[in-house]
Amino acid sequence: MDAELSTAALTKELKDYCHRLGFDAVGIARAEALDDQREHLNTWLTRGYHATMHYMERTSQKRLDPRQILPSARSIVVVAMSYDTPYRHTDQPNRGKISRYGWGDDYHDVLLPKLRAAAAWLANRVPNAESKVYVDTGPVMEKQWARRAGIGWQGKNTNVISRTMGSFFFLGVLLTSVELEADAPIPDYCGTCTACLDACPTGALVEPYVLDASRCISYWTIETKPDVEFPESIRRNLDGWLFGCDVCQDVCPWNRFRKETRETAFFPRNDETSLALEQILAMTPEEFRQRFRGSPLKRPKLAGLQRNARMLQAAAECSQQSDVHAHDHSR
Ligand code: SF4
Ligand code: SF4
Repeated sequence: MDAELSTAALTKELKDYCHRLGFDAVGIARAEALDDQREHLNTWLTRGYHATMHYMERTSQKRLDPRQILPSARSIVVVAMSYDTPYRHTDQPNRGKISRYGWGDDYHDVLLPKLRAAAAWLANRVPNAESKVYVDTGPVMEKQWARRAGIGWQGKNTNVISRTMGSFFFLGVLLTSVELEADAPIPDYCGTCTACLDACPTGALVEPYVLDASRCISYWTIETKPDVEFPESIRRNLDGWLFGCDVCQDVCPWNRFRKETRETAFFPRNDETSLALEQILAMTPEEFRQRFRGSPLKRPKLAGLQRNARMLQAAAECSQQSDVHAHDHSR
């Protein structure tokens, strides 16, 4: 078997194995510097669009070149796993919506063991292979690698979109010293659509492909410290979200092609896609630990979720008062 054929054969075997592990899509990119992203990332950071996520500044050089993380890296394997379920969001008074990715178990706990199994498979097949795996936790630009590996394009809402899966999927990457056959990137199919920019409740998509995290509901409800109050521009436009926000994905026409997950761990716990605000506000730390063990909702902690619930209640009171004023003026 010549070297080229064996690279192709190894790549196919690895992809087949990743599919058997439960990943819905697998693509390969060459491990090289993301020179085409340097200017975009620097501008984004300079404008402060990363808000208080300062680790993004600290790790920007590593983000731009995977060989700063794994010097022997030759290939990047990108895996995708759908988290779409038959459940849908509903707006209900006195309840706060949870972003789809938070309905079930923490995706790190589901994807990381599978990625480690893929790395172990490679190490078994190729002596001295070096690999590192990441699921949204390291200084790796997963979305850029997904684009280069042909999983999808990065849409104007900044999510990776696949023509066969929409955008409700998680990404994981495996950096490896093994030479694998790279896939070709696919073109951008956003076309003239601007649905996500038009629908964002807080105007966080400041221009196509540019997200200002400091205006994004996901950032405010998940990433900020519990003692931080939301600015009025966010509080008034929360649109019922308690944890995260799916608006710019829900309106994306490519999500007509969403693919239902095979992983039951991503189905909503207790069939709940939203939570009663009073229940969150009355929850004890022990109840919180039990209810959200192994859930992405642990990230903002109980105090963060309670702050979010208070913000939603304040927003509802404000809108009721505006309705009363509007009614008074109309008489
Ligand atoms: S997640 Fe919500 S707030 Fe953030 S950009 Fe998308 S629509 Fe806007
Ligand atoms: S809503 Fe339209 S513009 Fe936005 S990501 Fe989807 S296809 Fe692209």
